[in-house]
Order: sequence, then C-alpha cells, then structure tokens
Amino acid sequence: MNGQGFVVSVSDREIQKEKEKARALRKTRWWQRRIAQGRCHYCGKAVAPRELTLDHVVPLVRGGRSTRGNVVPCCKECNNRKKYLLPIEWDDYLKGFSIDGKSAGGSGTDGGNAQDRGS
Ligand SMILES: [Zn+2]
Repeated sequence: MNGQGFVVSVSDREIQKEKEKARALRKTRWWQRRIAQGRCHYCGKAVAPRELTLDHVVPLVRGGRSTRGNVVPCCKECNNRKKYLLPIEWDDYLKGFSIDGKSAGGSGTDGGNAQDRGS
C-alpha cells in the first residue's frame, strides 16, 4: 500500500506470468489470424505479419492482462512510441489517425472525441 492513487502496483512475478501468457497467446490461431491481416491496430498501416508485435493496450505494469481484449497487433514504430510517450501524448498520437472516422485505441478509454482536423 503506497497510496499513489492511479498507480497500479503489479508485482514482477505477475508481470512475468502475463508475459508468458502473451507468449502463449502469440502461438494461437487467433493471433495468427490477427497478424495475417497485416495491419497495425494503432496507425492502420499495412505491415508484414512478421513485423507486427503483440502490444498490450493497457500495459502490464499498469495492471493490463494478456487477454484477447487487451492485446493488439502493433507495428514497431507504434510500439516504440507507446513505450516512450506519456499516456496523454500517446492519446494525441492516436488522435492523428482517427481523422478518417476510424476509432483508434478503443477499450478502456471513453472514445468518440476525435477532433476533426484537416479536411
Ligand atoms: Zn503502427
């Protein structure tokens, strides 16, 4: 108990467990089908299936789990950005892709606030 409000404390052991689950998930047909579509969940770019990585929408360190609802195919570029950006900056980054009406991101956040920029 450290009373840090939004910070979810997840033990290393739990993270290890979830990482293993993610590894198992990557071998499922469900995942193979997802990456076979060759598209990054975030930027929508066409990416070769083997270039797609498994990304946790809610990161493990923030209490995310390796479940089908929380993992998405992600290109390396988005993966890197997600790692280094603050959550708020990441949100902004995603908004850049929602111009075409496609809602990026999804679960967990209250979507539907895409700003109409550029026409
Ligand atoms: Zn991407």
